[in-house]
Amino acid sequence: MAYHRSVLPDAIDAYVRSMGARETDLQRRLREETLRLPQAGMQIGADEASLLALVVRMIGARRAIEVGTFTGYSALAVASALPTDGHLVCCDVNREWTDVGRRYWREAGVAGRIDLRIAPAAETLQALARDPGPGSFDFVFIDADKSGYDAYYEHALVLLRAGGVIAIDNTLWSGGVADASQTDDDTVALRALNQKIQRDERGDMCLLSVGDGVTLARKR
Ligand code: CA
Repeated sequence: MAYHRSVLPDAIDAYVRSMGARETDLQRRLREETLRLPQAGMQIGADEASLLALVVRMIGARRAIEVGTFTGYSALAVASALPTDGHLVCCDVNREWTDVGRRYWREAGVAGRIDLRIAPAAETLQALARDPGPGSFDFVFIDADKSGYDAYYEHALVLLRAGGVIAIDNTLWSGGVADASQTDDDTVALRALNQKIQRDERGDMCLLSVGDGVTLARKR
């Protein structure tokens, strides 16, 4: 599992993570528990979690989707930013990792807002397009298998209302997207998606150099 990290120099990255974000004690404990896993590099930083929560609050999101939940740190941030009657559908294929998140979601009192679906994300997204249907969601966070990103982005555009926001993680891929000599499948997929979103008139967009790159796209 490739470890993809901030593109900032170490000292500045540490400063941003500590001063550029607020983290509850519970979030910190979940992040630290996850850091002990061999796959810890898949977890987003506190700064990115703050960004996701801020976007959710800024657009008044009530219904959200997460594609790729891992140990639930981002879901904890997003669900906590939703109103008490908000709803977050989490897509993942790994029960062991998501079980870690479920403990923290319960402790935070947000487990009732989270609908975890253990299945390939494309299947869950197709099911959501039938029920509750197109245009039913306000916010989608994509952080899963990079070869699937294009399909998840297309599903998200269907599922979002006009004005809804997609956040996509790892769009800088440790800088690999800007290095033409890197031609592995994941880098090629991310580079192609970045180009597509940059030209996509279905939405407004910005690629932020937060963490390993976070692209925000707003559906028109
Ligand atoms: Ca990620």
